[in-house]
Amino acid sequence: MSRFFSKKFASLVPYTPGEQPKERKYIKLNTNESPFAPSEQAIAAAADAAARLQLYPDPEARELTAAVAAQCGVDPAEVLLTNGSDEILNFAFMAFCDEAHPAVFPDITYGFYPVFARLNGVPYTEIPLRDDLSVDVDAFCGVGKTVFLANPNAPSGLLLSLADIERIVASNPDNVVVIDEAYIDFGGESCIPLIRKYDNLLVTQTFSKSRSMAGARLGFGVGCRALMQDLNTIKYSTNPYNVNAMTMAAGLGMLADEARTRQNCAAVIENRAYVTRELRALGFTLTDSAANFVFAKHPEMSGEEIYGALRARGILVRHFKTPRIADYNRITVGTRWEMEQLVAALTAILAERN
Ligand code: PMP
Repeated sequence: MSRFFSKKFASLVPYTPGEQPKERKYIKLNTNESPFAPSEQAIAAAADAAARLQLYPDPEARELTAAVAAQCGVDPAEVLLTNGSDEILNFAFMAFCDEAHPAVFPDITYGFYPVFARLNGVPYTEIPLRDDLSVDVDAFCGVGKTVFLANPNAPSGLLLSLADIERIVASNPDNVVVIDEAYIDFGGESCIPLIRKYDNLLVTQTFSKSRSMAGARLGFGVGCRALMQDLNTIKYSTNPYNVNAMTMAAGLGMLADEARTRQNCAAVIENRAYVTRELRALGFTLTDSAANFVFAKHPEMSGEEIYGALRARGILVRHFKTPRIADYNRITVGTRWEMEQLVAALTAILAERN
């Protein structure tokens, strides 16, 4: 730390992204990326946009905003595009949280929430997940704070029903409820239609998972116009050009090839069923994941041992040292071949141990 670093950030512990090692070729199952390349239409559109990089992008991102709105069945004024969904989450902490509106989220969820809270000087509380790692919905009802919930949750993959989400939103009318739907396309039902009924609901989604664009950084929020105006005030006070021209073009190309996205999601869902079956047969316990990852533990090996043994065999998964989930590993669902390699490696690792 330099002697110039502001005191207000001195104790900030930044978010730790999943490792992206370059020293050897791994089967990468640690950051929940899509195993599939973006649509050719997205690649061609981004390359075409590269030829005009001397120009700033459209700060209002009108064309892509209209396409995202159409995809979501809402009005463009109800959508705001951001640099990954991380950015809209940060904007939400900036716009809707303060001393009078502290944040609340589960104790085990996306690790960026507490980081954003501390970055923005927002007080927060964490509500423990139940023993089965499910969200305690009643504890969030009428909680009177700005709620952040990932649905499906990470890293459990567990999904809340639309009825439960609505109960939380309806019971906190004086606070914004942010539903982070980064993984919704892998088996959940989006709560976006509820934005017309509740002016306190903000739904966030991303192109990083189901739409194969993690490297392009494109996310968005959907909510009533007034919420979008607030978030736009934050955007134009930080970075009006938050979505770059190549990313916008790629996003349009991706949305023009929705069939590809549906096909990719179907493949992930099928591979998730396969890997769940195979891991259970090997003695693993898995949560019932609705996301593009599984969350698995084995009674005979610690989470850290399994992580290390897989790494030594060229397979990267995500292990969290957090209490209560340290026995687990979060494993991204990849191609069928990748899942077969994973199952073979785990079979060998368990056999070597016996
Ligand atoms: N929400 C959750 C629950 C996530 O796991 C992630 C991905 N790490 C994000 C949001 C942010 O993803 P992105 O910024 O790539 O949209």
